[in-house]
Amino acid sequence: MIISIASGKGGTGKTTIAVNLALSLPKGTVQLIDCDVEEPNSHLFLSPTIHQVTSMGIPVPRIDETRCSSCSRCAQVCEYHAIAVILKTVLVFDELCHGCGACSYLCPEKAIFEVEKEIGIVQEGSSDGIPFVNGVLNVGEPMASPLIRKVKEKIQRDKIVILDAPPGTACPVIETVKGSDFCILVTEPTIFGLNDLELAVGMLEKLGIPKGVVINKANVGDREVWDYCQSKHIPILMEIPMDRQIAESYSKGIPIVVENSSYIPQFLSLFKKVEEFYESSQRK
Ligand code: SF4
Ligand code: SF4
Repeated sequence: MIISIASGKGGTGKTTIAVNLALSLPKGTVQLIDCDVEEPNSHLFLSPTIHQVTSMGIPVPRIDETRCSSCSRCAQVCEYHAIAVILKTVLVFDELCHGCGACSYLCPEKAIFEVEKEIGIVQEGSSDGIPFVNGVLNVGEPMASPLIRKVKEKIQRDKIVILDAPPGTACPVIETVKGSDFCILVTEPTIFGLNDLELAVGMLEKLGIPKGVVINKANVGDREVWDYCQSKHIPILMEIPMDRQIAESYSKGIPIVVENSSYIPQFLSLFKKVEEFYESSQRK
């Protein structure tokens, strides 16, 4: 089962849920993958031992000028404007290229070959029996999605896979949650939390992914998030109060279930609800 943990905005406690859920489930049953390749931070709480680091790249085009007829077909097919033909010269803008291969496939003169451009690394390791994977995007590299795809190739399908998604609702989040069996949306009961929750719900509805909500800092703010979830028939899976102990353990990089094991049943209950709602969504 693949469970992604997402939120419409950063700082809602998404990583806290991902890490503590992983630590609460029985050892050997769960894998944690941090897909927030621009700012991975699950490792700060899990302190995994990394045993493999793999450089990841995308194929970018290069032009064999002896074959090129300057027909501009490559520039026409590139959706990302990463190729231009100016004064019979083909210019490739690597930083815009998504490595889709369309230009080389469609070049009538077979004048395009590809070279690998590194965009980041994938790290594999484990922490206290939990297999762990994350991706680290190179500084200044704008293409998070190809690296997220590489990170997701490490999914172990025989396990409960927890994907810690990037914040927001843009392409990297869609790339992460795509293919999930269920998505937990983490939010806060504020006007900003509600606004970003609505955007995230809209994204999941388009993707057809079953979802539920965890409300963090549930004892502050107003009740609009509850009203919204009720009106949309979205289950509220867990409420976490604003708690000094949670904040202190977070600031020390210690997962709350490690600091205080009495939280474990709450995370196990969260998982049980996810399973139930996922199963009921499959029966519809
Ligand atoms: S499609 Fe091929 S032949 Fe045409 S301009 Fe591009 S590289 Fe040159
Ligand atoms: S590989 Fe795709 S994105 Fe890159 S230049 Fe070619 S068509 Fe454009």
